[in-house]
Amino acid sequence: MAKTVTAKLRRLPSVDEVLRSDAASAAIERFGRPAVVGAVRRILAEFRARGAVAGQLDDVVAEAVSQLEQLDKPSLRAVFNLTGTVLHTNLGRALLAEPAIAAATAVMRSAVALEFDLEDGRRGERDDHLRGLLCELTGAEDATTVNNNAAAVLLVLNTLALRREAIVSRGELIEIGGAFRLPEIMSRAGTKLVEVGTTNRTHPKDYIGAIGPKTGMLFKVHTSNYRIEGFTREVAARELAVIAAERKIPLVHDLGSGTLVDLVPFGLAHEPTVAEAIADGADLVTFSGDKLLGGPQAGFIVGRKDLIAAINRNPMKRALRLDKMRIAALEATLRLYRNPDRLARELPTFRLLSQPVADIEARARRLQRVLQAAVGAAFAVEVVACESQVGSGALPMATLPSAGLAVRPVARRSAGRLLKRLAAGLRSLDIPVIGRIEDQAFILDLRCLDDESALAANLASLDLSEARDEPD
Ligand SMILES: *Cc1c(COP(=O)(O)O)cnc(C)c1O
Repeated sequence: MAKTVTAKLRRLPSVDEVLRSDAASAAIERFGRPAVVGAVRRILAEFRARGAVAGQLDDVVAEAVSQLEQLDKPSLRAVFNLTGTVLHTNLGRALLAEPAIAAATAVMRSAVALEFDLEDGRRGERDDHLRGLLCELTGAEDATTVNNNAAAVLLVLNTLALRREAIVSRGELIEIGGAFRLPEIMSRAGTKLVEVGTTNRTHPKDYIGAIGPKTGMLFKVHTSNYRIEGFTREVAARELAVIAAERKIPLVHDLGSGTLVDLVPFGLAHEPTVAEAIADGADLVTFSGDKLLGGPQAGFIVGRKDLIAAINRNPMKRALRLDKMRIAALEATLRLYRNPDRLARELPTFRLLSQPVADIEARARRLQRVLQAAVGAAFAVEVVACESQVGSGALPMATLPSAGLAVRPVARRSAGRLLKRLAAGLRSLDIPVIGRIEDQAFILDLRCLDDESALAANLASLDLSEARDEPD
């Protein structure tokens, strides 16, 4: 026995022999020599460890190519977002409008006048490209942009209230997705948090009583992802603006998602717009680029000219600034807002949010049979009504009537395991399909599905064999 194994091992080709084959040359051309050498070494070592027989050079190369193809797949993969959450933070939030994609692509290929004044040939500012549009769309005096809204909040706190106090209602001390907790951001910004009022009720006198010589700013925060209901009282931005102005203390309003237009025509609840927050008297307003605004990740700070100038002098601004690609995409996105009537067509976020439920349902009917064929007889697929949500902490209570496909295991026994296998199978497709498990069913909400035939083609290779089960 031992003798035959040794004989077979002796028959395993050497690394050099494998590399000299034609198949290996082709692989080297494709993946580069170091990668192929590494893979061949690994595979021969595996064969040796298993006492394996494969003496074929081509088997070794084929195995190497298959491993290298796996490694070559981009880590950041496109997926089908069928979760029903339109602005899904974990799936990259807003999809960009075509003009934004074109603008970003164009500046990637070319040198651009990013900080260069083409009129007089002198140095310009990167904020110049967005300032005009932002002021026009919000009614603010001035504007600046940073990496995201978290950065906007950090920079404002650090500029207006470094080693000073920022006064916030206890009802607004928000945590957004784990890592962004207002009290922690404030301490990192070098600001002393002064909490006023209670969780459910804060009055004007609470703010007034807390104002003192060390107050740097009053801070109003949109409670994006929660609502306090019942016996409540908050001080409206407009009331707070009067208190702040009388005492010459800046009022900063973090709108979170923020929106540049009234959302009611899109079938959503009213959200205060950035222009309304400015008109209500906020000295600065901060908001996100990739939530309801529908652009790339960015944070905006709009408001009083002197305060924006102070923010731009803060050395931290440099660490938080935007690159040319995002500035180009933002400029093109903001331009779409000049014609609000066309937003529902041109801005994917609004298009997805305002889709008629009848259209989504028709899509579900068209795909029912395709999905049924892909999942096989162990599952039953039916068209169902469901509820989508906006996501990213915007309009947390608003649900949008939607439609989709529910996939249920036919047998009750081991239904849980079958559902997990289905979810794993869908995730491992060429274009992974992400849905959600709810009430013993896997739900695919079809609101955000743009390309039906791509989904159908993709589903054809679904593999739900038991080998996919995770070990218990
Ligand atoms: C989402 C949100 C932020 C953070 O914005 P990002 O753009 O995700 O950095 C800050 N404040 C509020 C109130 C938010 O809703």
